[in-house]
Amino acid sequence: MSSLSRPEARFAVDLVKQCCDLAVAVQSDTVGAFLEKEDRSPVTLADFSVQALVSHRLAEAFPEVPLMAEESTSQLRGLEGEQLLERVAGYVREFEPSANSESVRRWIDRSQWHGDKSFWVLDPIDGTKGFLRGAQYVVALALVKNGVVDIAVLGCPRLDLTPVTAPGSIDTDPSEVGSLLFAVRGEGAWLTSLDGEALVQLRVSDCEDPKHTVALRSFESGHTDGSWFERVVKDMGIENDPILLDSQAKYAVLAGGYAGLHLRLISPSTPDYREKIWDVAAGALIVEEAGGMVTDLAGKKLDFETGYRLENNQGILASNGKLHEKALMSLQATKQN
Ligand code: AMP
Ligand code: MG
Repeated sequence: MSSLSRPEARFAVDLVKQCCDLAVAVQSDTVGAFLEKEDRSPVTLADFSVQALVSHRLAEAFPEVPLMAEESTSQLRGLEGEQLLERVAGYVREFEPSANSESVRRWIDRSQWHGDKSFWVLDPIDGTKGFLRGAQYVVALALVKNGVVDIAVLGCPRLDLTPVTAPGSIDTDPSEVGSLLFAVRGEGAWLTSLDGEALVQLRVSDCEDPKHTVALRSFESGHTDGSWFERVVKDMGIENDPILLDSQAKYAVLAGGYAGLHLRLISPSTPDYREKIWDVAAGALIVEEAGGMVTDLAGKKLDFETGYRLENNQGILASNGKLHEKALMSLQATKQN
């Protein structure tokens, strides 16, 4: 059983597959081009194009369900903004013939979440910095129902997770063979290659000995606390080199059994940082449905009912479950204030 009996899940999987094709098309045209948002983070034509397509398709299929999505067109004002929107419309038109600069602006800005407990949540390009570096990035779409993540899809155009049936070491160098992972609450987590081959059920690793596991962290040093990460790795006695990856590709690697832990520690330069819901929701359900555990750094359940940011949680610990308690103890033992 692959869980695609649920119409929303089937729809989301098909849509994310198209978004991956769209992101790859934009990337091959526009290497390295980006705008800066108010918080100085980058945004690309791929972010806008994917968000426009997803927003439009979801509005048509599920008009009653709001969408919470990362981007807005506030960077796309004036003549230059109009020209960029024209380019976005050109990309989206390959998938949606009715796209023009006016409609894509409307679609991108449709985000109509107003405190609803059930909504779609989208990160059109998670790991934009990875996208720009030619490294890992994902398209992340999830359906939150009554405050609980119910459906999750991660499209990973540059991550080859096959053959998942024989977990061992993984080559995380960017690949041309992408992966698509999805999960439905209570029904497991599943992997296909982006060309639709080989549906397999995802299982986290059963490693109980930290010595033999692998830990994951952000590639961007500014998104984590590298020194605390090193202390945890040492304290737990993990002997393998860590894997540094952009985006929720880390949750995909964990769900596939190639690593035992993902530590999202808070950077000392941004101590008040709270996770954005679109950076976590899809990855968290996929890891849980693959048999893993996801909490914050104090072991608290993630609370997806606090809006755009996970206000009630600090950082993330995701694991294969078996190593969770040990990791929580190490996090406490090695914390410095
Ligand atoms: P990653 O590639 O795992 O580092 O995650 C990328 C995401 O990190 C981006 O989508 C941002 O929303 C998020 N981010 C931005 N600034 C920070 C920060 N200071 N700490 C943690 N995450 C951040
Ligand atoms: Mg993101």
